[in-house]
Amino acid sequence: MADNKLYEILGVSRNASESDIKRSYHKLAKEFHPDKNPAAGDKFKEISYAYEVLSDPKKRQVYDKYGLKGLQEGGQGGGYPADDLFRHFFGDIFGMGGGSRGRGPTRGEDTLHPLKVSLEDMYVGKTTKLQLSKNVICGPCKGIGGRPGSVVSCKDCHGQGIKVSYQQIAPHMTRQYQARCPTCHGQGETINEKDKCPKCKGKKVLNETKILEVHVEKGMKENQKIYFRGEGDQQPDTQPGDVIILLQQKPHDVFQRTADDLVMKHEINITEALCGFEFVVKHLDGRDLLIRHTPGEVIKPGNLKRIPGEGMPQYKNPFEKGDLYIQFDVVFPENNFATEEQLKQIESILPPRPAFVMPTGEDVEEVNLMEYTASERGRGREEAYASDDEEQMQAGPGVQCAHQ
Ligand SMILES: [Zn+2]
Ligand SMILES: [Zn+2]
Repeated sequence: MADNKLYEILGVSRNASESDIKRSYHKLAKEFHPDKNPAAGDKFKEISYAYEVLSDPKKRQVYDKYGLKGLQEGGQGGGYPADDLFRHFFGDIFGMGGGSRGRGPTRGEDTLHPLKVSLEDMYVGKTTKLQLSKNVICGPCKGIGGRPGSVVSCKDCHGQGIKVSYQQIAPHMTRQYQARCPTCHGQGETINEKDKCPKCKGKKVLNETKILEVHVEKGMKENQKIYFRGEGDQQPDTQPGDVIILLQQKPHDVFQRTADDLVMKHEINITEALCGFEFVVKHLDGRDLLIRHTPGEVIKPGNLKRIPGEGMPQYKNPFEKGDLYIQFDVVFPENNFATEEQLKQIESILPPRPAFVMPTGEDVEEVNLMEYTASERGRGREEAYASDDEEQMQAGPGVQCAHQ
């Protein structure tokens, strides 16, 4: 059952536009402002609260989905902290404190359970058993809480579950407010101690451990929800909410996922980059993918290559798969890896150097090319830069470590 109260307060429909809501709020706020209309009591605050929620697209979304409870508890709704104003003016007025006050069966809350799964599980699929505890209607008393006929309307609140109290806020001035009935805890009914069901002790529900079989299907994604309709806590006169399993993917050592594609990094050395290579990748289903690259087809640092059809299976269509991307990093040799003689040999094979023309005259000055690392910045600057300006130093030169 959709919770419509905040819309009703502002007198707008559920699909009212932002400007409709604003217009209606201004009109009502004028009408019910305490200065003009002191008799209206909390009406102005209700209007303000309704506007606060409905004018905020995020809060409105939470409210549309989960109702006032979503805003109050913030649990599934996306992190709205309990709202003091809400509790003061709505908790009791709307009976959020506990009791259902006879508007037909309400819907119970959904329960969200995060479930960590590996990328392998999302690739091949997996069935996991999840144990959770939930409230179920007590069998022996069928949710009555006592012997048939033993449940009586609460005398203190006349079955309303709420009580009207008065609070003195100033001399000769009292404020009327409604609060949950302490006798029946807002239930509106009581059961004599001797008539209470021995199994549930009048609570109407029992706590039970339940095992759910969660089918993680091929191609399911991070944050995907798996619904178990009506598996939430049971309560008399309440339609149970859903149990929602929220998939969370554990990080993978090799692959990163973007939609249906997989991305991995692979390091090769300069010889492989120039002369070809082969290597094996263990895929998520256990297969060894043999990857070969033709000698002479040069791989440069940062090159991205694609292997079609080796990405993730598509959800509900697992024979269609995304692609696997490999990003290459090329490792260069260390200093002094070859003799002068060998370097000459290498140079004879590699592309020729660009032509160099030595400048002449007095303005030619040969300078030192120093090693540069971020941590040596301070030490090297007197030599490398002619500036002492700290700010300039912190901004840093736009170069990366060029020595390898
Ligand atoms: Zn009562
Ligand atoms: Zn019982």
